[in-house]
Amino acid sequence: MNPPTSASSRNDPAATRPVEQARLAQLAQQIPAWGAELGFGAVGIGDIDTAEAMPHLQAWLDAGRHGDMDYMARHRHLRADPRLLLPRAARVISARLDYRPRRDRCDWVEHETARLAQPEQAVISIYARGRDYHKVLRQRLRQLAARVAQAIGPYGYRVCTDSAPLLEVELARKAGLGWRGKHTLLLSQQAGSMFFLGEILTDLPLPADVPPDAPGAEHCGSCTRCIDVCPTQAIVAPYQLDARRCISYLTIEHRGSIPVALRPLMGNRVYGCDDCQLACPWNKFARVSRLPDFDVRHGLDAATLVELFAWSPEDFEARHAGSAIRRIGHERWLRNLAVALGNAPGTPAVLAALWARADHPSPLVREHVQWALAQHGSGTDAAVPATPVSLHLKAD
Ligand code: SF4
Ligand code: SF4
Repeated sequence: MNPPTSASSRNDPAATRPVEQARLAQLAQQIPAWGAELGFGAVGIGDIDTAEAMPHLQAWLDAGRHGDMDYMARHRHLRADPRLLLPRAARVISARLDYRPRRDRCDWVEHETARLAQPEQAVISIYARGRDYHKVLRQRLRQLAARVAQAIGPYGYRVCTDSAPLLEVELARKAGLGWRGKHTLLLSQQAGSMFFLGEILTDLPLPADVPPDAPGAEHCGSCTRCIDVCPTQAIVAPYQLDARRCISYLTIEHRGSIPVALRPLMGNRVYGCDDCQLACPWNKFARVSRLPDFDVRHGLDAATLVELFAWSPEDFEARHAGSAIRRIGHERWLRNLAVALGNAPGTPAVLAALWARADHPSPLVREHVQWALAQHGSGTDAAVPATPVSLHLKAD
């Protein structure tokens, strides 16, 4: 859900040359093996026709369910036809990169679910606890694309991560990597949904892993766990997500004030939300990463709200350097934490932390801190609580 950037790499399509069928068939067999060597959990090849998915995207946009992600509407024509991103594109190589940290616990679902019930804990989405996945993914896709060029010489390709306007779940589905779950994420029978997707668009007419018109196998059945568990009822119907209600959107993409009605429902989720994935039975097959990049940094799997709310802008920049979280900036970081502190029990430490930010220079932060204090029956016109501000709190 990030805006498109010019960061995707593209070589010169004019450099392409015909490649014979037998060589293409051999290449299609080699690419997944090379992908595995680079740490990808699976790699598939699919056709690029997204016509089937476009009416759903259009209806979603028409209903305004993309919130203020204006780029989704602006770039709909690019999503409709990948050839606008790479002239003469013929196939997509879709790759799955599992992101659970290498040393994750066996009982990770139970553990993560238990933390959601500990309101003093700050819950950050699992994917964001390590290095910024965009860089990791892009670098590995480039290496895979280069490996293909080593084998066959120059060809036309473009490397894309979720910063490029592609219908990546649909393309991954068509490449045989899984099916679209009712929570709208791609699901794999081998790996659940705890992974990133990346793509290499190519003009090589590689044999596709799934025939273009094959009906995709789906394995959600009558299950509705993700819909039932969503704290904000953002999955308004199977396969339909109202981003405006989704905590991932509200804490990461949304720039302004968080709607007051949704704040109490956000609990202690301060960056992203994994609830619909934790509830999904297929995630018992979710795999740990083979890469060190997604190892947890700075204790982000066990931090408290009060600890993180105390970070100064300098702390935020230093500790989130190289992390996707850095993109939201310190102001929105404090906004999210203030909401969670408003939902936490009003202990002396929580009240002291909020009071320490009551005069924050940002109106956005101040407004959320005032709301949080009001949740505790306090307010910025009330007397400062007797408990002194903790010494470990640093002023901005
Ligand atoms: S990420 Fe959270 S808020 Fe968004 S749909 Fe899933 S459970 Fe609901
Ligand atoms: S929780 Fe159930 S309905 Fe939702 S994506 Fe998983 S299997 Fe499908």
